Amino acid sequence: MRRAVVLFTCDLRVHDQPALAAAIAEREQVIPAFVLDERVLAGSAASPNRLSFLLDSLRDLDSSLRARGAGLVLAHGDVVEQTLRIALRFRAQAVYMSADTTPYARERRARLGRACASERIELVELPGPSICEPGALAPKGGGHYRVFTPYWRVWRDAPRPAAAATPRRIPTPHIAPMRAPALRSLARGRPSSGIAAGGETAGRERLQRWLSRSFEGYAERRDELPAQATSRLSPYLHFGCVSAGTMLARVESRAGGEELARQLCWRDFHRQVLADRPDLPRHDYRPRRSRWRRDPAALGAWRAGLTGYPIVDAGMRQLAAEGFMHNRARMIVASFLTKTLGIDWRHGAAHFAELLCDADVASNVGNWQWVAGTGNDTRPNRVLNPLRQARRFDPDGRYVRRYLPELAEIAGRGVHEPWRLPPRERRALRYPPPIAALASRR
Ligand code: FAD
Repeated sequence: MRRAVVLFTCDLRVHDQPALAAAIAEREQVIPAFVLDERVLAGSAASPNRLSFLLDSLRDLDSSLRARGAGLVLAHGDVVEQTLRIALRFRAQAVYMSADTTPYARERRARLGRACASERIELVELPGPSICEPGALAPKGGGHYRVFTPYWRVWRDAPRPAAAATPRRIPTPHIAPMRAPALRSLARGRPSSGIAAGGETAGRERLQRWLSRSFEGYAERRDELPAQATSRLSPYLHFGCVSAGTMLARVESRAGGEELARQLCWRDFHRQVLADRPDLPRHDYRPRRSRWRRDPAALGAWRAGLTGYPIVDAGMRQLAAEGFMHNRARMIVASFLTKTLGIDWRHGAAHFAELLCDADVASNVGNWQWVAGTGNDTRPNRVLNPLRQARRFDPDGRYVRRYLPELAEIAGRGVHEPWRLPPRERRALRYPPPIAALASRR
C-alpha cells in the first residue's frame, strides 16, 4: 500500500491545495495531518486572536476532509518528531507539504528532510502560499526585486499556475475523530471579541459575499476608512484557508481586478524580499542609522489608542477590538509611531504581531519597514500627517466615531480635532490631549 502523509501548514483548505491534490493523484492512501508546533506556539503565534482563528480553521478543515471520507490527524509538539511519528504509525512512504520560504519554514524543511531521509521517507514539496514563488521572478543579476514597480511589471505578465484539483473522495486508512484542544490551554489570554471566524468555509463565503456586494467599488474606495470596501480576506490568505490564486482568478477579468492583483502582488513582493533577506524581521533593510527614541509612555499611549489623535487611536482600537486594521489606518498609525514619535518600528511590528489575525512575518515586517523609511519605499522620508489623512480618508469622521465611543457625540469632521472644542466640552470628553506635536522628527 503506497501511503503519504499530507502535512498541512499555512494551507488549511481542500480547494486548490497542491500538496493534497498531488498526494491523492500519486499515492493510494493519504493521511492529512497538522501539528500544533510548540516552537511556533511559544512565540507571538500564541496570540489568542490567531490561535482562535487557527483552531476554527482546523475544525473546518477536519469536517471538509471528513465529508470526503478522510479526517485530520492533529498532533501537538515538535513538528518534525510528530510528523515522523505519524508517518511511521501509518507506515507512509512519503510526506507531502507546501513549500514556504520564511526563515522558520526553511529551517523546518531542512530538519524534516533529514529526519525523513533517515527513515527512507520521501519529502515532496509543492508550490506554497505565493502566486509567484520567491525566486521565480528574479532581476537580471539574481537576488530579489528591491523596488515594487519593476516587480509588478514582470509579476503582472508572469504565467499563472493552474488551480489544483479539488478532491471529491480522499482514500485513507481509518482516522479517529479529531479532538481540538481548548483555546485557553494554548493561548496567553482571551481573543478580541470582534475577530472573524476562521476556516475555509467562512473564507470562501466571505470572498463570494465581497465579490457580489462590494468588489465593484474596490479600486476607487479601498482607501476609504469607513467603507467596507476591501475584502478582509488577509487572515484567510495568511492561514491558506483561501488560496491567493483562487482570489486572483475570481477577479482578474473583472473591472477593478487589476487593483486587487496589485495588492496580491505586494504580498508576493514582501515574501521574495524576506526569502532573500531572512534577517529582515530584526535588521533594517536599508540601515539609515536611525536613532530611535526610547519613550515607554508614548509607546504605551500608542498601543492603548490614547495618543489624543482620533484617527490614530481609532486604528489602534480597531486592532484591539477586531484583530484587524484597515490598511490605510495601518499606514497612519505606523507613520505616527515611527516618524512622529520617533519610536523603533520593531515595537510597532511586535504589537501588530500580537494582535493581528493576519500577522505574517513578510507582510508585517516588510510594511513596517516601508513606512518607517528603512525598507523598500523609494521615498523613505515621507511622513503621513494624521490630520490630513483623516480629512481625506474619513471626511465625515464615521470611522473615528465607530471605534472611539468617547467621541461619538461629536458630529462631522470636528471629531478629528477634539482639542478645538471649548474647554468645558473638551474636559467632559475623557479623551487625552495630543501626546506630541505633528511636525516630523526627521
Ligand atoms: P484587500 O485590500 O482586500 O487586499 C487583498 C489582499 O492583498 C490582502 O488580504 C493581503 O493579503 C494583500 N495585501 C494588500 N495590501 C498589502 C500590502 N501592503 N502588503 C502585503 N499584502 C497586501 N498584511 C498582512 O497580510 N499581514 C500583516 O501582518 C500585515 N501587516 C501590515 C503592517 C503595516 C504597518 C501595514 C501598513 C500593512 C500591513 N499589511 C499586512 C498589509 C495590509 O494592510 C493588509 O494586507 C490589508 O489591510 C488586509 O486587508 P484586506 O484583506 O481587506 O485587503
